[in-house]
Amino acid sequence: MSSLPNLHALIVGALSLVMLGVWVSGRTPDQQANAAGAVEPEPEVVEPPAPAPPPERERTVVAVKPGDSLARIFKRHGLSARDLLHLATRSGALGERLKDIYPGHELAFERDGSGNLIYLQYSPGRLETVKFERVGEQFEGSKVIIEPDEVPTYKHAVIETSLYLACQRAGLSDGFAERLANIFQWDIDFILDIRAGDEFHVLYHERYIDGQPYRDLGEGDVLAAQVITQGKSYRAVRHEDGAGNVGYYTPGGQNMRKAFLRAPLDFSRISSNFNLKRVHPLWKSAMPHRGIDYAAPTGTRVKAAGDGTIVAVSRNRANGKYIVLQHGRSYSTKYLHLSRFASGIKKGKRVAQGDTIGFVGATGWATGPHLHYEFLVNGVHQNPRTVRLPAGTPIGDAERPNFELASMSLLAELEGYKTRPRLAYADAEQ
Ligand SMILES: [Zn+2]
Repeated sequence: MSSLPNLHALIVGALSLVMLGVWVSGRTPDQQANAAGAVEPEPEVVEPPAPAPPPERERTVVAVKPGDSLARIFKRHGLSARDLLHLATRSGALGERLKDIYPGHELAFERDGSGNLIYLQYSPGRLETVKFERVGEQFEGSKVIIEPDEVPTYKHAVIETSLYLACQRAGLSDGFAERLANIFQWDIDFILDIRAGDEFHVLYHERYIDGQPYRDLGEGDVLAAQVITQGKSYRAVRHEDGAGNVGYYTPGGQNMRKAFLRAPLDFSRISSNFNLKRVHPLWKSAMPHRGIDYAAPTGTRVKAAGDGTIVAVSRNRANGKYIVLQHGRSYSTKYLHLSRFASGIKKGKRVAQGDTIGFVGATGWATGPHLHYEFLVNGVHQNPRTVRLPAGTPIGDAERPNFELASMSLLAELEGYKTRPRLAYADAEQ
């Protein structure tokens, strides 16, 4: 709605310019010469001021209040019920939009000199405005859709306690933190791997409307990103192929998506509730295990680490409620101490990577709520955090030239920002 005061300011500005123009051109060259100091006297001609024309269109802007309907607003402003009827029932599908108007949204209308409604517009959001112009008795509807401008934007942050807080400090939303973590979730365990001093660089689309940041739909796409954790660098670049499929790839064209997630837990709840400093010693104490313990609040979503089949959904004294998944011939994963299973989870069912299979709990031999996670290759336990994971599908040969062209330019842009730290930090403070 901020565009309307701007528009108003523009109109006022334009009007005063016009008046200025009239005033300047209303003076004869002699008068101007007088003003410049010439001495020849001249009888002063005072022209009667032109009467101000009645305003042709009087504009009213209304913020929709709780409980408002178009009918109430019309009544409040003395607009005709007949016009209301025409608008709401005879302007086609767009007229329907006026039947549900929501508090906080904006309605604007204009009346002619006699007080008749000649124009009405309603904006259900900043991206859309429906407009109705009077044509005789009726109103003709039209719709304006605004496409926000997308501007490649760079941010950098050093992680002190969590990815969330680092993102917040860089002016990025929680949703963005989750998207960033999801891009790297096959390589980086954002629950256990992240240390104070880790950092990220990201190039993404920030959206703007009329030069103002627009975040109602969150930030735009992540274009390229680098996460540096414990001295290791991971880079990902976004690519959309000719068929519109979007994926993230390493600079060499390997798919970021792999057959297994690095951590089978919904990271968002853990990072927001658990401090890294508390989680870290837990992992150390878990080393003698054949698996990893993730301390997490009861009820935290547990995800299938990879596509597979459920081979066990059961309960015993030691494991409590547990699930075993088989992935192809060689791989299996185990999830122990669950508080409950997700609905529909039963033996023989196929699950996809990321599907919720259960929820963290403290059933069986557990001192507190946590997930005990095991990763086996041909029946042998592996450290899930370091095991080499089977690769996903890389960029295809046909797509490779496009990918290389696009990814090189994105990565070069990211590098360019990184080597201009002052500019980068100024940007981060916007
Ligand atoms: Zn354990």
